[in-house]
Amino acid sequence: MRHRIAVVGSGPGGLAFARVLHRHGHPVAVLERDTAPDARPPGGTLDLQEGLGQLALEKAGLLAEFRAASRPEGQAMRILDTDGTVLRDWLPGPDDRANPEIDRGQLRDLLLGPLDIRWGRHVTQVVPGAREGTVVRFADGRQETFDLVVGADGAWSRVRPAVSPVTPHYTGVTLVETSLDDVDTRHPGLARLIGDGSVAVYGVNRALVAQRGSGGHVKVYAQFRAPLDWHAHLDPNDAEAVRSALLALFDGWAAPVLGLLHHGTAFAHRPLHVLPESHTWTHVAGVTLLGDAAHLMPPLGAGANLALLEGAELAESVAACRGDLDEAVRAFEERMWARAGRWAKITAAGLERLVSPNPAEALALFDQVQPS
Ligand SMILES: Cc1cc2nc3c(=O)[nH]c(=O)nc-3n(C[C@H](O)[C@H](O)[C@H](O)COP(=O)(O)OP(=O)(O)OC[C@H]3O[C@@H](n4cnc5c(N)ncnc54)[C@H](O)[C@@H]3O)c2cc1C
Repeated sequence: MRHRIAVVGSGPGGLAFARVLHRHGHPVAVLERDTAPDARPPGGTLDLQEGLGQLALEKAGLLAEFRAASRPEGQAMRILDTDGTVLRDWLPGPDDRANPEIDRGQLRDLLLGPLDIRWGRHVTQVVPGAREGTVVRFADGRQETFDLVVGADGAWSRVRPAVSPVTPHYTGVTLVETSLDDVDTRHPGLARLIGDGSVAVYGVNRALVAQRGSGGHVKVYAQFRAPLDWHAHLDPNDAEAVRSALLALFDGWAAPVLGLLHHGTAFAHRPLHVLPESHTWTHVAGVTLLGDAAHLMPPLGAGANLALLEGAELAESVAACRGDLDEAVRAFEERMWARAGRWAKITAAGLERLVSPNPAEALALFDQVQPS
């Protein structure tokens, strides 16, 4: 008999899991809280690494489509001093495919393909029960039972409490996100500053990063050390008030750099939370986690990559399983914990150096990972 499998969440991890299972002809219920694929703006751009996200797409049979849609030139990275001096200007080689960028929306559409998502299914609780199966409860009062429930429901997972009491904690670094549209036409000076990929400016305990997506869309991230309630006195819907607060924080930086904040449209507040670096749990039959639900870490190019690969690997294990499904899941968890633990340490140390009292640390980190 086929196992009844559900995955909660249709982010990169949940979709990779479902798509690889689908490729192997195994049915899976994808339970997603959003009411439609475009219920929320899809977000910025993601770089997918060769041995992680790209490997997952290969397992899903989507590598050629990814190569056609992705932007290798988006790997370009420029670092400026706060006075606007160019400190580093790195361009990828013509055949460099190590970390091409893809818009989140494009990646989602690629993975969605033929999948049948159950939109508007807001999971509130997961109750494992060894013999009868794992019960999934929904916000509308309904419930369903599965042999395996995979929690790919992100940072504030509702599946996680079924295996672990741990919750994310604040890193002390906040990120405020804004966007520029049609940058080449509307803001040609900023378009030149950003180039084909990203520009980053590191100051004392703060940084400004802008990343180009497709179609002249740019995401700008202001990052700084601050208490969680730094904006308590601000109306989050008052874009001008948030802009003024940010301009005050980055006071003294070069005018072209501050243009990234001057011209940003809406502002979204994203305090950076993480799970403990070596988050593991005692295995619980019939339920597991992957992606941010299992190992939330600072956003330094690993989270989506890990979620994709874990989704693909767990799906392959489930599809290949002819015996004890639980043993296959247990083996997957061991592998995931080891790899994610390494990345959690790397990204935590990276955040300390990128938003640091000593901006030279950020430059040294760049030279370490991207020698010219
Ligand atoms: C600014 C920023 C930039 C980043 N850049 C990169 C990058 O370049 N490269 C990289 O690898 N990573 C990057 N990351 C990290 C990456 O976005 C995450 O690690 C990744 O999205 C995690 O994928 P996931 O599938 O585990 O969870 P998510 O993407 O969070 O998806 C979770 C899904 O579950 C759904 N859901 C949540 N709760 C419920 C519920 N109760 N019931 C049903 N559905 C639910 C959500 O609606 C969502 O669709 C970045 C993060 C940020 C914040």
